[in-house]
Amino acid sequence: MSKERLQDRAALEATVRRAYEAGRRALGSGAVANYIPALANASPGWFGLVVHPVDATEPVAVGDSDLAFSLQSVSKIFSLACLLNDDDHVVFERVGVEPSGDAFHSIVRLEEERGIPRNPLINAGAIVVSGRLKGATVDEKIAHFQGFLRGICTEGAFGVDEDVYLSEWKTGFRNRSLANYMRHWETLEDPMLYCETYIRQCAIEGTARGLARLGLVLANGGVDPIQQRRVLDGRDTRTLLAVMLTCGLYDEVGRIAVDVGVPAKSGVSGGLHAVVPGVC
Ligand code: GLN
Repeated sequence: MSKERLQDRAALEATVRRAYEAGRRALGSGAVANYIPALANASPGWFGLVVHPVDATEPVAVGDSDLAFSLQSVSKIFSLACLLNDDDHVVFERVGVEPSGDAFHSIVRLEEERGIPRNPLINAGAIVVSGRLKGATVDEKIAHFQGFLRGICTEGAFGVDEDVYLSEWKTGFRNRSLANYMRHWETLEDPMLYCETYIRQCAIEGTARGLARLGLVLANGGVDPIQQRRVLDGRDTRTLLAVMLTCGLYDEVGRIAVDVGVPAKSGVSGGLHAVVPGVC
């Protein structure tokens, strides 16, 4: 959809509604994740869609757009944003920016590449990012991250879903393995601090409306068009969009780039956050 059409509110609403109906027809073709047991409690019928143009104060929202769900891997792009905003660019000495082509929780390349995750959006890379958030403890790091989110999306709660957190904490052996393995290579210091922060970060709740609000900053070169203040450095915003485009959907990233062609980030709770730079 062109920028001109986006400014035509009625045309935008009609387009979003059509996309929503098309998405709803496809709902039965998927399944909710259950390797984190609490995620299996989600209804496969929940579906919301929100589009927020950069030059509008209100988004167009349809369906379950105000339903809170744990953000899971959609949170990864914002924890990286928070870290870069705190000027931790040294993180890129510990995490690469190349697509992996592997599943999100894969460990194979970590052995080949001596404990340096390929990118910040696979689990291994995101564990490194989360553990480096400001703060001495898990709670301090998470509170700092929540403050970053709430500073942009002032109406968002971004609390932790404790059931989802505990459920992943009890079963997250694979993420613990990644953290321990990276400790062996000295990519990180305290594997349990990093891993616990990561799992809590994934359990932070948001809504489709809130995600669209956060995405405005990414779509608008780092400047929040609503509060009219710069939130992220322009260069960092470019970096974030580049890693979304090249790494945001793991082993499906090429397919989505060909079919859709915009930077996006997925999560196992079903969220999909996409940015059309300069547009929405
Ligand atoms: N917390 C989830 C995990 O580490 C996030 C994965 C995802 O959303 N792709 O398994």
